[in-house]
Amino acid sequence: MLTIEGIDAGYGATTILQGVSLEVKAGEVVTIVGANGAGKSTTLRTIAGLITPTAGRISFEGQDITRTAAHEVVDLGITLIPEGRQLFPDMTVRENLLMGAYRKAARAAQAETLEEVLQLFPRVRERMNQQASSLSGGEQQMVAIARGMMARPKLLMFDEPSLGLAPIIVSQVFEVIGKIAATGTTVLIVEQNVFSTLKASDRGYVLENGEIALSGAAEALLRDDHVRQAYLGI
Ligand code: ATP
Repeated sequence: MLTIEGIDAGYGATTILQGVSLEVKAGEVVTIVGANGAGKSTTLRTIAGLITPTAGRISFEGQDITRTAAHEVVDLGITLIPEGRQLFPDMTVRENLLMGAYRKAARAAQAETLEEVLQLFPRVRERMNQQASSLSGGEQQMVAIARGMMARPKLLMFDEPSLGLAPIIVSQVFEVIGKIAATGTTVLIVEQNVFSTLKASDRGYVLENGEIALSGAAEALLRDDHVRQAYLGI
């Protein structure tokens, strides 16, 4: 579904990603793990069209999107749930969710999609008229994920969905990501929370200093000595 071949990308004259290649097949949950500053967010921002790579190629469902603008990438069916949720704080939960339905294919089906999405997020339904800024961190993350689903994406990308959340909430977030995958949406996650994320994934990539150091089945990565020492403290 998504193929990245040898991309270099960064900010101005600074190259962060060097020769990154990865693949996400339809229906998979794939994770990119790595330490602070490894280039995980940069990878997602590049796929989303917010950064243009200086080398390499990105294709989605057979179409070259290497230089496609961000709003067109959304229209093709790729949605990014950014780090730190980025809700509109003064808007209600309902208004935030409706803002997610901007993709062309989603606009017409807004009411129907809202109902489908709320079935996955019963707690969000209870808070529809509440101002987003008044929600707890966990509730805000659920609203951010629900808003991403409102675009009816084919590929949903999560930038550190567990960041700053209590362990019990982290497991709820991964549970909901599992339910989203079960609806047929393909999922790409970047995370520092290596254990929980790999547990919830089919495959993973380890990003170190802007390069893919290791990749494989999530179960195999959890057993890998380097991953255990460097990321799981075992
Ligand atoms: P984190 O978990 O800390 O977000 P990350 O793996 O997602 O880490 P990136 O956010 O991709 O890492 O950052 C990779 C490198 O790019 C870092 O050294 C960072 O300082 C740099 N960087 C990020 N955003 C910018 C920017 N807008 N301008 C210049 N450099 C940036």
